[in-house]
Amino acid sequence: MPTIGVLALQGDVREHLHALAACGVPTLSVRRPEELEQVEALVIPGGESTTMWKLARTFDLLDPLRKRIEAGMPAYGSCAGMIMLADRVLDGIEGQETIGGIDMSVRRNAFGRQVDSFEGRVVMDGAPYDAVFIRAPWVESIGEGVEVLGRVETGDAAGRIVAVRQGRVMATAFHPELTGDSRVHRYFVDLVRRSIDEEA
Ligand code: GLN
Repeated sequence: MPTIGVLALQGDVREHLHALAACGVPTLSVRRPEELEQVEALVIPGGESTTMWKLARTFDLLDPLRKRIEAGMPAYGSCAGMIMLADRVLDGIEGQETIGGIDMSVRRNAFGRQVDSFEGRVVMDGAPYDAVFIRAPWVESIGEGVEVLGRVETGDAAGRIVAVRQGRVMATAFHPELTGDSRVHRYFVDLVRRSIDEEA
């Protein structure tokens, strides 16, 4: 069974560790390059992407993270984690960098200041899914190799892309780690298992 790391610089690390443990996977908190080397896949939690970026620089993790993802390590990011996995950020702060991995432009705090946090119905992989959004981004545009996994179903933002996958890297604008619905984590664990089988 592969070990799945959770990037533990900032954000809701514990919730992701619990959600992964509930899927029966061994987990590890990742703060240093040596810990990154010990995991077969990585989750990047929700939190604040600008802080995560600065800490990733400070801890010398930005380049190792980019290299692992380029080399095919499966990764999943929720909310701030989605921003970290985007090749391009809109409404970022001055100089904000990401790890990248998904050919998409993501808009930070896209749902507007007045809606800090809300629950919304998403169609996820063809099925209804009640999602929690907290100062969430949405995906403004995607490149050809990116598969849309989920869109907002109702309200002003109906049709907006909020879940995507490109190869072994996936991201959601919402927080499945906070709701106890394990479908997204199970989807990722399956993706990790399939990637490892491919390499065997
Ligand atoms: N707005 C945050 C950011 O830019 C994301 C919020 C979240 O992860 N809940 O990183």
